[in-house]
Amino acid sequence: MFDHLRSLLRADQLSTSAAVLRQHARGESYDQAVLPEIVIYPESTADVKRVMEFAYAQAIAVTPVAMNSSLEGHTVPLRGGISLDMTRMNRLREFCPEDLLVVVEPGISYPQLNEQLKRSGLFFPIDPGAEASIGGMVSTNASGTAAVRYGVTADYVLALELVTPKGEIIRTGSRAKKSSSGYNLTRLFCGAEGTLGVITEINLRLVGLPEAASAARVPFKDAEAATTFVSNIIQSGIPVARCELIDPASIAAVNKYLDTNYPEKMTVFLEFHGNPAGVEADAAFVEDLAAAHGALTFEASTDPDERETLWQARHKMFYATVAANPGKRNLVTDVAVPISKLPRAVSHALARCQTEGLPAYLVGHVGDGNFHLAIFFDDGELSRVERLSHDLAGHALTLGGTSTGEHGVGIRKLPLMTKEHGAALNLMRDIKRLLDPKDIMNPGKKLPT
Ligand SMILES: Cc1cc2nc3c(=O)[nH]c(=O)nc-3n(C[C@H](O)[C@H](O)[C@H](O)COP(=O)(O)OP(=O)(O)OC[C@H]3O[C@@H](n4cnc5c(N)ncnc54)[C@H](O)[C@@H]3O)c2cc1C
Repeated sequence: MFDHLRSLLRADQLSTSAAVLRQHARGESYDQAVLPEIVIYPESTADVKRVMEFAYAQAIAVTPVAMNSSLEGHTVPLRGGISLDMTRMNRLREFCPEDLLVVVEPGISYPQLNEQLKRSGLFFPIDPGAEASIGGMVSTNASGTAAVRYGVTADYVLALELVTPKGEIIRTGSRAKKSSSGYNLTRLFCGAEGTLGVITEINLRLVGLPEAASAARVPFKDAEAATTFVSNIIQSGIPVARCELIDPASIAAVNKYLDTNYPEKMTVFLEFHGNPAGVEADAAFVEDLAAAHGALTFEASTDPDERETLWQARHKMFYATVAANPGKRNLVTDVAVPISKLPRAVSHALARCQTEGLPAYLVGHVGDGNFHLAIFFDDGELSRVERLSHDLAGHALTLGGTSTGEHGVGIRKLPLMTKEHGAALNLMRDIKRLLDPKDIMNPGKKLPT
């Protein structure tokens, strides 16, 4: 079936080896695996165009994949077909420091990009934690710990080059920082999870590296006090750069994992970016606020090593919880709610997990009202855990929130889409049909059929 494709690409750009197919059969934290029939490694926009023209003519499914760190089964090639591995398209095509922008291929990872920018004084500030590609981050609209200050990936995408499912190359957006021209197609493709086309080039905005930073660790007696403190920081307009919450169970796991003795309390981790006087003033203001909310202590520092130590428990939390639950599987929830509803959403989620009797660990990018519960379970318990995760998402919707703040829909969140979007889902389906009439682009994801 792929003979014609073999004549269009070099032999080392296609693989049907069992090991390579297996590598592309599933994603991070999602068990269902489906083998693609072939894995293709494009190296240019022209390669992608050839593949898409072939796939469209033959109605073969194409699933784009890069670092494969997405969490909801996004990259499982549900209908077999082609797994389009974008990791060889990883060049920095152009750097324009005077315009604070960079033009990259989608397979470059954000740590690789920042490494190449490191002497310029500029950086790309979105940090989802895992080694993610820029194309994958655009396609899930990733964010992470720094979003409270810097926003989400889509806020940095000025323009895109794409190959449509029919194989046409289009460009969206411009290099201007703002535009009111046409419909905002750039934004449509941000978060599309590879269901509308293949991104082959991205014009990304950059920002200046902060001159100074300070960090703080603030334990509280309970979730209510910690989350009310967080919502007051945000409401007071302090430009906090990171604002994370982890729960006593997570700190206990870290203490065991690292042999440390951090207080096993609901703990808020903070970081401030700016100039030296500014970050000290921000930290001092927040220290007063913390005292007013009953903080048990307030430890802060501007020294890089001490900052690292203050944040150690947050950085090691995921590995510590995995180590604390040997042999178990885990599912990570991802709701986001308006900041004033954060205390209710967190208390509700913790209470539900306790009732279910499942080991669950809370970690939140709480400055954005976004938090995750890593729920650990044994074989045979998956449907119970998925039901719990859907209940928590349903509760977030009743609070005016969303079922996914940053991970995306993939396969796992499909059952929530009707409740979340109602009649707007039909319009989304119309858009999908218009762009992808044969339903070949990452079929079975993002929109329930
Ligand atoms: C330990 C851990 C922590 C994480 N923490 C966070 C976090 O804090 N915040 C956060 O937002 N995410 C987080 N993630 C999830 C993940 O890192 C993001 O979803 C990331 O954006 C995926 O990038 P990727 O390169 O791995 O993409 P992949 O997983 O390879 O693909 C993701 C999606 O993008 C599509 N895609 C990839 N490349 C293209 C392209 N060129 N054109 C069109 N579609 C494409 C794929 O089809 C798929 O639907 C975490 C993951 C892990 C494992």
